[in-house]
Amino acid sequence: MWSFTERHQRIFQLKECVATRVGSPCHGRIVRAHIIPRSQLRQIAQRGRVIAVPTSLTAVMRMQRSQFEAKEIGVGEFSTMNCFCANHDKALFARVEDVPLNFSSEQLTLLHYRAVAAEFYHRRNQLESAALEHDLETGEPNDLRFSWIVTWSGKAFHEAHDALRRTEKLIAARRFKDIRSLVVRFDAPPDVMTAGAFRPQYDFAARRVQNLAEDCSYVAMHLLAANGAAALVFTWLQTDAAVAEQFVGSFAARPREQMASLAVQCAFEHIEHTCMSNTWWSDLKRSMRAALLERVRRANSLAYRRSPRCLSYRLHYADWPVADIR
Ligand SMILES: [Zn+2]
Repeated sequence: MWSFTERHQRIFQLKECVATRVGSPCHGRIVRAHIIPRSQLRQIAQRGRVIAVPTSLTAVMRMQRSQFEAKEIGVGEFSTMNCFCANHDKALFARVEDVPLNFSSEQLTLLHYRAVAAEFYHRRNQLESAALEHDLETGEPNDLRFSWIVTWSGKAFHEAHDALRRTEKLIAARRFKDIRSLVVRFDAPPDVMTAGAFRPQYDFAARRVQNLAEDCSYVAMHLLAANGAAALVFTWLQTDAAVAEQFVGSFAARPREQMASLAVQCAFEHIEHTCMSNTWWSDLKRSMRAALLERVRRANSLAYRRSPRCLSYRLHYADWPVADIR
């Protein structure tokens, strides 16, 4: 197990720009790109640090043997990936980093693209390490287990790749209106931040939205700060509307006073790059912290089968009043 982890970790550090079809070809060096910008993280940081469950494979495997826990992490270290060259990182994301977030259709498209790119990068690394391990282990008793991992990693990789390429085409053609969204603005400062894309299985009303064994659609989710207040953003491609709009629609149909808590649950259930302020995390009851950490533990387990009620409202994690839904 540990040799697998070490090899996986090395592959995870492979550096390659994923933005090969947007704008100019890549010449620049690969930079550590933040999926959640530092300017965002600083708004919930204390002494330059946020709280998050470590996501490196080594840390996850260690926690699987002891217990999952959240730790302080520097804003310069959180949510970084080596998946864009300096040129593309600057050119693509200036309009969401150098100007205030107003959730224009162009900004929503760029946020969606970066979340899908992070998912693609993660899935590609996972597939490469699983495939390598499969070759090394052929003939060993672990063989079937790795075949299974390779098959499922391969499916996730192809779906993330497809979502990435379709989003790139929209950006290249500046067809920003083809990204649909739900933006919920809260009247409270953010305590939790998240950015990522996932394939929802069940909606907020415990109904199935898609079967992971069939062709799946992605939804991206962001929880960020805009004008100092928390903002939740779901985005999806118009071509994925059948699945995405059932999922997001079931969120929009929940009572407003549940929305902040449901957003927190969803982030911990589905998104790797989720962090929070020290104050908010420390003020949660011990049982509530345990419930959120349990979501992360299960999401990292090969044996995890989601329950239809995985996103149903259970605990009240946050009191941010809803100011606006668009
Ligand atoms: Zn590039």
